[in-house]
Amino acid sequence: MQKLQVAAAKEKTTSSERKIMIGLEIHGYLNMENGAKLFCNCAIDPSAEPNTTICPVCTGQPGSKPMLPNKQAIDKIIAIAAILDCRINERLIFQRKHYSWPDMPTGYQRTMSGSYSVPVGQEGSFLGIGIEEVHLEEDPARWDPETGAVDYNRSGYPLVEIVTKPDFNSAGEVRQWLRRLVTTLSYIKAINPELGIKSDVNVSVAPEFGRVEIKNVNSFRSIVRAIEYETLRQQREVKEGKKVAMETRAWRDSEGTSVFMRQKETAVDYMFIPDPDLPAVKVTAAEIKKIAEKLPEKPAAKIRKYVEKWKIDHVDAEVLSSEILLAELFEKVAVVVNPVLAAKWLRRELLRVLNYNKKELEEAKLDERHIIQLLKLVESRKITDETAKGILEKLVEKPFDVEEYVRKNKLFAVAEANVLEKYCEEAIAENPAAVADYKAGKEKALNFIVGAVMRKSKGKATPQQVAEILKQLIK
Ligand code: ADP
Ligand code: MG
Ligand code: ZN
Repeated sequence: MQKLQVAAAKEKTTSSERKIMIGLEIHGYLNMENGAKLFCNCAIDPSAEPNTTICPVCTGQPGSKPMLPNKQAIDKIIAIAAILDCRINERLIFQRKHYSWPDMPTGYQRTMSGSYSVPVGQEGSFLGIGIEEVHLEEDPARWDPETGAVDYNRSGYPLVEIVTKPDFNSAGEVRQWLRRLVTTLSYIKAINPELGIKSDVNVSVAPEFGRVEIKNVNSFRSIVRAIEYETLRQQREVKEGKKVAMETRAWRDSEGTSVFMRQKETAVDYMFIPDPDLPAVKVTAAEIKKIAEKLPEKPAAKIRKYVEKWKIDHVDAEVLSSEILLAELFEKVAVVVNPVLAAKWLRRELLRVLNYNKKELEEAKLDERHIIQLLKLVESRKITDETAKGILEKLVEKPFDVEEYVRKNKLFAVAEANVLEKYCEEAIAENPAAVADYKAGKEKALNFIVGAVMRKSKGKATPQQVAEILKQLIK
């Protein structure tokens, strides 16, 4: 007995010793409603011709000084830190991170990270993964090493960096978490969706080996591939008895491999100093509180509510919470109409119609009162699903009073059995061949006659209802 326990304990330590650890440094472009860069008033416009949204500040001209940091960027970054449950610091300092590279005309990047820095947020957590820090920094220019050309448009775009603890254990876990992070950040419109995110990926397969950092992995797919590749590479080195060195590698997306870049630099190499051009940004506790209070309920909490309280299928709950506008519409409808019915209609039908019309929910300008009217009519079976689908298609184009529309166009379902029966008798008389087929055992022939009745009722009967009556009549 004791022996077994010892063996089990031993096994546990070896497996945890061999545990894969993954940490991310995620960079996202802040979504600035005022459209301006961090330290100047140049526009954030990713589609602009090269070097057209620039000024002496963002091209680092000698003697130029940065403007005070864009207030919106500060507010956004605090909101991000808050939604990731970070402790938020009240005195924020920009540091100069020195390096010599063609994308950085000043020779330093202004960042709130670094050896003496105070990041915006610290010690947070998101869906079980620790958040080491959240900070703000400026983006460098874009340098093309082939031609040597530099495009300064991007220089000075405000970036958020979210550094996680090395709490991930697999590529799959990272993928799922990142999707949820992006959804959550979209609730507060934090990241510019046009520009997306990029990430540095840190991997170590055993604590006695150094972590390897892979730079600039630019899509979800590449992040997952880079982690898978790096894990296997390190495991192979370990098997061969080599020691995995702490190093920085570059991801080669087209080849699906990483290549050695340099030995890991330490913080000292960057010669961080506080930027003398920029005063400390003071954030009061009251301001932090105000931003935190305005945060929406997070997708994860919504999913829990939908599944546990409203008995919605988990996958439907994920879809409904994937967009804040959809989630909010659903919640307004679900308090007056059966939530399961509401979920089915919004998740399946509404998304289908929007998709067909290549429209975003935001563009459709749906009024929840109309959706409620519609689904109440469906719920009480006053209109058929077919009729409701037709109305939904029209509602996506322009708003109108649904009850009035149904009344005016006489779209109430044919509930009276005698009217339906009359249609069924007519359809049987008109389609002798199908009737004969059905009698001969061809179940499918019934659908044909159901279709004929549906046309007569102009879609106001339900196919199930019609099939029942037909079966009674054809015997
Ligand atoms: P640097 O700028 O030197 O890369 P950061 O603090 O910005 O340092 O980032 C460190 C990253 O490395 C974090 O994402 C952290 O989770 C990750 N990390 C730290 N230790 C390990 C480890 N043993 N294995 C994998 N990742 C690690
Ligand atoms: Mg790094
Ligand atoms: Zn500028």
